[in-house]
Amino acid sequence: MAWYTETTTEKKKSKKELWVKCKNCHSHIYAEEWSKNLNVCPNCNYHGAISSYERINLLFDKDTFEELFSNISPKDSLKFNDLKGSYKDKYETNIKKTGINEAVVTGHGKMNAIPVVIAVMDFRFLGGSLGSGTGEKILQAANYAYDHNLPYIVISASGGARMQEGALSLMQMAKTCAGIARLNRKNIPYISVLTNPTTGGVSASYAMMGDINVSEPGALIGFAGRRVIEQTIGEKLPDDFQTSEYLREHGFVDSIVNRKDLKDYLSNVLSYYNR
Ligand SMILES: [Zn+2]
Repeated sequence: MAWYTETTTEKKKSKKELWVKCKNCHSHIYAEEWSKNLNVCPNCNYHGAISSYERINLLFDKDTFEELFSNISPKDSLKFNDLKGSYKDKYETNIKKTGINEAVVTGHGKMNAIPVVIAVMDFRFLGGSLGSGTGEKILQAANYAYDHNLPYIVISASGGARMQEGALSLMQMAKTCAGIARLNRKNIPYISVLTNPTTGGVSASYAMMGDINVSEPGALIGFAGRRVIEQTIGEKLPDDFQTSEYLREHGFVDSIVNRKDLKDYLSNVLSYYNR
């Protein structure tokens, strides 16, 4: 009966690939329509996850993007193991699965003819966690922007610090912030784009340091989880707490921009700096 099992598996697989279920409104969207709509739900405007390279294709003028520091990858300095196996095995599997060496892709290119340096985080890689390799790439890209007098954009998507690297991961918060703060001395603009989710150590460091902080609609942005805060302060939090909309209302985010408008928004803002 092997043929039967195989056919059923095959059927299940193709059904899964044909449709995408929106995590917000739970409607089923034809996969082709979902990707044509830049992984945004056509019913409720939920902004789904998008890979670094998809994001780069969306933002940069054709054939202008050049990747930098792609040789930097995670280091297992603590020789960390948990019940599910070793950290080294885990990140090596992630490298194979995603085709990128770290949770961020860095490089430079042109956005509506404006040259920029960018770091685009990728949630698929260990939940976009901030490891020492991630921090190093974000710093190196900031240094490149500094040396070449180019504006710097970081697009965040992260669950926070990378637990498997312990204190080394937390040190990346200070390191990346120092590199970005240096841009100020040369009046080089730094724009932070916060996407779903931007939490933990990333939200507590470079993601909130933008001269302009922009977010995609409905993104989860915050430091500690909702339940932890509720238990600590003994109060119920509003429903929209830790969303981009809540943060804009309270002055932490300057604008909320739809994914399809992001390229024009960013190049427009940068054109003011260039005057
Ligand atoms: Zn939806």
